[in-house]
Amino acid sequence: MAGVKPDGAVPPLRTAEVIAVGSELLGTSRLDTNSLFIAQKLGELGIELRAKAVVGDERRRLHEIFVHALGRADLVLLTGGLGPTDDDLTREVVAAALSLELIEDETITARIRARFERRGMRMPDLNRRQAMVPRGAVALPNANGTAPGLLILAGDRVVVLLPGPPRELQPILSALCEETGALGRRAGRERIHTVSLFTTGRSESHVEEATQPLYSQWREASPPIETTILATPGQVEIHLSLRSDDGPSARRILEDARAQLADALGDSVFTTSGRTLPQVVGERLLERKLTLAAAESCTGGLLLQRLTDVAGSSAYVRGGIVAYDNRVKETLLDVPPDLIARHGAVSEPVAAAMVEGLRARTGADVCVAITGIAGPGGGTEAKPVGTVVIAVEVPGRALEVRTHLFPGGREMVRLQATQSALDRVRRLLD
Ligand code: ATP
Repeated sequence: MAGVKPDGAVPPLRTAEVIAVGSELLGTSRLDTNSLFIAQKLGELGIELRAKAVVGDERRRLHEIFVHALGRADLVLLTGGLGPTDDDLTREVVAAALSLELIEDETITARIRARFERRGMRMPDLNRRQAMVPRGAVALPNANGTAPGLLILAGDRVVVLLPGPPRELQPILSALCEETGALGRRAGRERIHTVSLFTTGRSESHVEEATQPLYSQWREASPPIETTILATPGQVEIHLSLRSDDGPSARRILEDARAQLADALGDSVFTTSGRTLPQVVGERLLERKLTLAAAESCTGGLLLQRLTDVAGSSAYVRGGIVAYDNRVKETLLDVPPDLIARHGAVSEPVAAAMVEGLRARTGADVCVAITGIAGPGGGTEAKPVGTVVIAVEVPGRALEVRTHLFPGGREMVRLQATQSALDRVRRLLD
């Protein structure tokens, strides 16, 4: 393993690997989410996460994975397995692999004992294990649990052991990643800078088509701008990132690139500041001092839920009616029964009548109606699963009624229907 350079200068940490330890993470009930937080924190420091592994509480495999990771990466982070029981192996395996003796750190024992005493309990002897540290390791205080994190210098490389529970791990890692923290100090001067842009109403391939010429230009630039496209139902996100040691210049380059993207994508861009579509719609309603109500059939209240997830939405959301059954469309939204009989519940005339009834009942300025077939049953040849009719009326504009055919299963259809309805409101309020 590489030692510290003779002149004492230690090279910056550029690459990292994460090992999540815990048999429960291999089963079906628990997912490794710690590595997402770690990837974000390291990314901000310009340290590239090259690989991650999940391993059960098994000495030999953990040893193998750890030794391989340490052979490849400047920084290895292990999460979990620092508890007091026999199956908590992380500190023992790491100490053995680095040929470091495990010794009891009396200050840690005292801290754990005090933590128990504060709750009027005696510290079980078992917990002494959590005070065993590889010789030379630095203990990282854990404000939310008993096991401290540990930082070990292994030549030029750094090994960090973190407790598994996210609420314990996150503050410890955040402190390490501050500019003055042990990892912040060891990161290079380069940082990864990012900006993002969110669109709706265009498919991923349409977004790609409109933006491809820009990407190829940016890939060739020095330093290159990396682009990541993420598609979720009814939404496409573009993230631009740049590795640079000059923050202000990186931000200028990225903002310029984002402006070019926004030009290419036109009004399908709903935010460049990471706000959600319901937040953006809420702001438009607030600016124009308008209220909104919704009549929802196949979305069962999802549109109103998304709107009211935003704090402060009571200033513009008036309410709505979940008209799932035709009788509710007739009795609470005054949709004429013969309209449903003639055109079917999923039809443009019925959606228009739902808006009309909703306006009469709620007096809201902006009225939205959604009626559709979310599936998996209920589709016909003429109206297959995914058919959704959305009607929107905003003051000063003619009623707009559109029929969509959304792909995917029930959940995707419902989500796209609400996304599309929100997008129509956003555009009509422009
Ligand atoms: P403790 O001292 O609390 O036992 P520990 O370091 O031994 O901490 P584990 O016992 O491995 O941690 O995990 C404790 C809990 O933390 C798990 O049940 C799980 O809920 C959560 N956890 C562990 N690893 C992860 C992970 N990689 N991502 C998300 N949650 C995790």
